[in-house]
Amino acid sequence: MAEMSDRQRRLRSLPSVEALAARLHGVPHAMAVRAAREVIALRRDTMDLGTMDGDDAQALDRLETDARERARAAMHPALRPVINATGVILHTNLGRAPLAPAAIDAVSSVATGYSNLEYELAEGRRGSRHAHVEALLCELTGAEAAMVTNNCAAAVLLATAALASGRQVIVSRGQLIEIGGSFRVPEVVGQSGARLVEVGTTNRTRLDDYERAVGPETGAILRAHPSNFRTLGFVEEVSIEDLCGLARRAGLPVIDDVGSGALGEGIPELADEPSVRGSVAAGSALVCFSGDKLLGGPQAGLLVGSTDAVARCRAHPLARAVRPDKLSLAALESTLALYRDPALSAREIPVLRMLTAGEEELRERADLMRAALAEGGACARVMTAAAKVGGGALPLLELEGPVCAVDPGAMELDELSRRLRTGEPPVIARAREGWLMLDPRTLNDAEAHAAAGAVLAALG
Ligand SMILES: *Cc1c(COP(=O)(O)O)cnc(C)c1O
Repeated sequence: MAEMSDRQRRLRSLPSVEALAARLHGVPHAMAVRAAREVIALRRDTMDLGTMDGDDAQALDRLETDARERARAAMHPALRPVINATGVILHTNLGRAPLAPAAIDAVSSVATGYSNLEYELAEGRRGSRHAHVEALLCELTGAEAAMVTNNCAAAVLLATAALASGRQVIVSRGQLIEIGGSFRVPEVVGQSGARLVEVGTTNRTRLDDYERAVGPETGAILRAHPSNFRTLGFVEEVSIEDLCGLARRAGLPVIDDVGSGALGEGIPELADEPSVRGSVAAGSALVCFSGDKLLGGPQAGLLVGSTDAVARCRAHPLARAVRPDKLSLAALESTLALYRDPALSAREIPVLRMLTAGEEELRERADLMRAALAEGGACARVMTAAAKVGGGALPLLELEGPVCAVDPGAMELDELSRRLRTGEPPVIARAREGWLMLDPRTLNDAEAHAAAGAVLAALG
């Protein structure tokens, strides 16, 4: 009975939602009311479990603090920056490529006011949004014409629909790939309105397999780069040169989905990626690639190729549905412009800089984290580990380098990772053999400092 009346007394001592909300100065009213309602309901539940804490005045202060914390969390933007300490350069879950400073400036200036997105200033009449990057793309890839979509999946869909809808598209069985869970070549071909004709086998496809499949119903030959896996052993695929030779003789277009699209010249780490320029030179009607993979720009799909094939894409009804926005175009144009000077692009484009970062630079940054952690009383050391490119590119490439490994001490590694993920700013790191690894490859110096500070706070 005594317990019962104690509970009732405490229930009565709970403030009203309005009264608690009124204490949250500076929080918008609707948000304050929601936070107050939530923490009061929660407190009621814990009372039902028989949990009591402190006296009533203390309890009220706790309620106010909790409500304020809730309101603050609700006011955080849902989409916000995180620190990527995983060493995975193109992490699709973490937004793929960070932009070059020039691209960020371009986005900001175009976002701030009006722009000539679809306006020809010299003529004073309507223009094309694709015009801003077309000349640059042609210059960098050797293509006759170019256009942009909102991503590479859209580029492949549009290319296939524009060149082969209602007809057959020939694809090697070794290239019926899936990228990132939802992009599947057979399904994309299906959605384009074309009919898929599979040739060859999973491991071997030869030129005469394609030759036998070509007929009056054929609309195009599609090649897709197996970006995120490799087959090895008894394997054979037809080179883009031979494929284009066959297509030329048959009067057919080749659509080449190279995926990541390496534009950087003379970067040994990129040697395994199909070159866009090489595919254009071989005679592909359309080459499709991503803006935010190894190119290091914004999310976009790039289509480069012959004047006729690009014109058919632009005229297709899907073109409007998959067109890029002005912010992406601004970022894309300034990123592409950096590629005119290979040394400049390697220095300024974050993805290329991380890819080619030297041992010395990485060791210095790893050591900076180790020292900051040691100073804060945590146990950390510098060891060697392998980072990945990620984003479904170069799956075999291991980027060896020094990383800062943290000993979680008495704390469970999972708990440390959870605290880092839910902190501000969130830090995403990987775990290996009981260590928490902070990889300097995907961090700049300021982020490395912040990551070390976040680990200390999480351990403390
Ligand atoms: C990544 C990739 C895609 C999809 O590109 P998004 O830009 O993510 O739409 C399509 N094809 C290949 C071969 C890829 O590697």
